[in-house]
Amino acid sequence: MTDTSEISIQERSSQEKAVFIGENLAFEVYGKFGTRDPRRIAGILGIKIEMKDKGSIGELEVFSSYNHRSKVITIYRDLLMTFSKKVGIDNPLDFLLAHEIFHHLLYKNEVRQRSGILNEISAHSFAIKLQGSNVIKQGNKDP
Ligand SMILES: [Zn+2]
Repeated sequence: MTDTSEISIQERSSQEKAVFIGENLAFEVYGKFGTRDPRRIAGILGIKIEMKDKGSIGELEVFSSYNHRSKVITIYRDLLMTFSKKVGIDNPLDFLLAHEIFHHLLYKNEVRQRSGILNEISAHSFAIKLQGSNVIKQGNKDP
């Protein structure tokens, strides 16, 4: 996952669709596996999780990534706190795991969207929905 805070106005309706795709898949996954715990879901899906120290490459901040071929989610330790503050969540690790699990599911189900940014929005919505409404800290909630 990289920073996707900028999106043009023209993309707004497809943005709403992307949110729907993410939320919908979260409902499906919760219904199917009966858990919101991304670690357990990763286990069921046969996805491995690895931690690396450094995710920042110059200006670019990579918080986490998923390798389809090896089925490995990589979480970068150095940016966990940065991510937590940016998105306003208490448990950045679970959030990023859920985000990358979405990429796994999307890849498998071939409901891929053309735009990378839209996929990121879907993954974000998936992670929020999967973890329930309490994931976003009060102060960072939209009015
Ligand atoms: Zn992503």
